[in-house]
Amino acid sequence: MLDRKLNGEMVRLARNRRRMTQTDLAAASGVPQTAISRTENDASGELGLEQLKSIARCLQFPVAFFYEQDTVYRQPISLHPAAFRKRASVSARDESAVIALGNHYVLQLRRLLDAVDLNPEFETPKFEIVKTRSGAAEFARAISTARDAAIAVRAGWQLGDGPIADLTSYVEASGIMVIKADFGAADVDGFTLRPVGMDPVIFLNQNRPADRMRFSLAHEFGHAVLHAFPDEAMEKEANEFASELLMPRNGILPDLRRGLSIPALGKLKLKWRVSIASLIYRASSVDLIEGESARRLWIDFGPYRTREPVEFDIAPEQPRLAADLIRAHTQDLGFTIVDIANAVTTFPNEFAQMHGLVPTGPRVPEKPKLRLVPNFKRQA
Ligand SMILES: [Zn+2]
Repeated sequence: MLDRKLNGEMVRLARNRRRMTQTDLAAASGVPQTAISRTENDASGELGLEQLKSIARCLQFPVAFFYEQDTVYRQPISLHPAAFRKRASVSARDESAVIALGNHYVLQLRRLLDAVDLNPEFETPKFEIVKTRSGAAEFARAISTARDAAIAVRAGWQLGDGPIADLTSYVEASGIMVIKADFGAADVDGFTLRPVGMDPVIFLNQNRPADRMRFSLAHEFGHAVLHAFPDEAMEKEANEFASELLMPRNGILPDLRRGLSIPALGKLKLKWRVSIASLIYRASSVDLIEGESARRLWIDFGPYRTREPVEFDIAPEQPRLAADLIRAHTQDLGFTIVDIANAVTTFPNEFAQMHGLVPTGPRVPEKPKLRLVPNFKRQA
């Protein structure tokens, strides 16, 4: 371990993961803030081993974690605060904390992928929106709108024009891992990291309603297949992609034409597994309603803005790929959860918590069983 270089980026990651400032960490660990700052900015050799151990204790990471040489991604392609998907309301500390969370998962998944080959059922689609075909990069399919990309993806998945029952399974079958995670206090719906040498990983806030998580997944998947580099149009494009993917025009139009009352939209919500709000947006984008009729529908919907009617709730989807990857290590390769946690330099309890598991270690010898001797004398 010690022949490897201390990686200041890992100190920053762990500190952000625990939502601490350098000043907080200095106060808690007794290590001067200037030394922490210099370490994070890659003046290695700055910290003594005892100081590092103190930092590790405060941050609840094994010391070995700080010697990991992984690249840390400071900024996802996009990150979505709750309020209408505009980048405004998330504090810097919350943003750093969720990005650190994503990086922590990526570090673990990268290790796990070392031992297991993924063979996705579908090719990971990649598109580039261009005005002229010659403008497209070689790896991408040239298309002219985000909607065309969604149409091509649906065709590749052989879905026809119907609802997608389990979007997560299709995204994961395309080799893109989906992680539902605890974003803590951060008011963020989802984000995507694009680690070097790996397929993108999509992170979703597990505390959101199922319909909203599905739309976030479709939106993030749009970024993953459309946006190698961020640009100004990307949010609009990702929403357009998500709408067509979840509510293809040809499939949804006949349903929307049957009526747009809140109860009717509720039934469509159960069928299409999208929020009533996104069905209203869709009715606008396929030109079924406009101006006054749209305004009236939004007024009817008003009372349900923060909570759509309970009777139309849908069940959440469950990602499986990360769990399968861990199971391949425990069942096929014979590791315990504690072994795996050690290999990914994370304490077992935290690893288990991140992946919804119960930590299992080397088998502890069972205590000898108590023997009960029923004794009729007691009744006497
Ligand atoms: Zn976005």
